[in-house]
Amino acid sequence: MTLEYAKQLDEKDELKGFREKFNLPVTKDKPLIYFCGNSLGLQPKKTKEYFDQELNDWANLGVEGHFQGKNPWLHFHKSFSKSLSKITGAKISEVVAMNSLTVNLHLMLTTFYRPTAKRYKIIIEPGSFSSDVHAVTSQIKLHGLNPKNILFELKPRKGEFIIRTEEIVKQIERHKSDLALVLLGGVNYYTGQAFDMEVITKAVHKVGAKAGYDLAHAIGNIPLELHKWEVDFAVWCSYKYLNSGPGAVGGIFIHEKHTKIKTLPRLAGWWGHQEKTRFQMKPEFIPTPTAEGWQLSNAPVFNMIGHKASLEIFEEAGMKPIVKKSRSMTTFLEDMIKTQCKIETGYKIKIITPGSIDERGSQISIFVMKNGEELFQKITEAGFVVDWRSPNVIRVAPTPLYNSFEEVYLFAEFLSTCCLYLK
Ligand SMILES: *Cc1c(COP(=O)(O)O)cnc(C)c1O
Repeated sequence: MTLEYAKQLDEKDELKGFREKFNLPVTKDKPLIYFCGNSLGLQPKKTKEYFDQELNDWANLGVEGHFQGKNPWLHFHKSFSKSLSKITGAKISEVVAMNSLTVNLHLMLTTFYRPTAKRYKIIIEPGSFSSDVHAVTSQIKLHGLNPKNILFELKPRKGEFIIRTEEIVKQIERHKSDLALVLLGGVNYYTGQAFDMEVITKAVHKVGAKAGYDLAHAIGNIPLELHKWEVDFAVWCSYKYLNSGPGAVGGIFIHEKHTKIKTLPRLAGWWGHQEKTRFQMKPEFIPTPTAEGWQLSNAPVFNMIGHKASLEIFEEAGMKPIVKKSRSMTTFLEDMIKTQCKIETGYKIKIITPGSIDERGSQISIFVMKNGEELFQKITEAGFVVDWRSPNVIRVAPTPLYNSFEEVYLFAEFLSTCCLYLK
């Protein structure tokens, strides 16, 4: 594999024009090579213009901006549902952009974790993201229960980083009639493993429990068919692969078999009340029979502008070409690392992300045996933006909308020279 070959792949890339639509970070003297789209996606150039639009409407129209703005604020949240439904494989009525991920997780747990004397256990993935664990643990305590007897982590086989689907199914079946909920990431943030949500959801339903997913690292990254898979609920943030800006609005999916049940317990607010009578301001809560029925507040417009700029790009590019490029670029990265860094012998570094394209998105997690932080420092000083996850992993995410094969080549080549000297 040569630089020439990488350049040829870039020439043939059907998404190559999309790089132009983003602001790529630079330092004083050189552009950076950015492989951190799994942590904070880059800014679409249109974002600034769209901010100006809303600032001007606010300045010129005041409260009338709710109705007469170019993008009336009253319905601002609705403008995302179509794109989100395509990205998540949902019906439009099953998704809505609202709040942030952890807030949404709490809202979903309030509805979907209703422990009884018989059914009360929750299964989560090994090494869950801390915020998810905090949310689940505090919800269990809110019910007056002790997390020790409730919360179970899936266990990979001895010596393995990733957890096999058959192992997950087996462990779900073991808890059987006690099990209330299984909550997994769509893609694990540390290992980069994408879970087989279809098979897992089936297994969860077979024992009579609910299946929910944290899609922080999955949305805009891997193919999703939430409706077809009959996932009960999902939550996500939009500042990773969805490029909507730091802390930008998150979102939820709730399967329509649930959204239609008006009596489902929930934490309610006026924006979840049916639109027709919302402004009558009556005390009785009549929920909208869609995912919007879980909204609390009116749309935080200034937290949604980056979302608008970004989702337009996803509409234009389409998830299929995005996934196709993601797979070939990630495989290219994996092959480069394997051939350049003598990885087969398990020498110095090891890729812990699954090797199959169906079991990962556009992230490769590199496990460093020794002096990992030193290696990370070297990579950073050379102008590559990757990230370090304690205790010993470097995550590299080539993002199909703005990264090139040439950049992947340059990274792997640099990594291999570092590995020569790694102790
Ligand atoms: C990024 C991420 C979060 C972030 O949660 P916020 O509420 O947006 O701060 C949560 N869970 C996972 C798995 C993540 O990767």
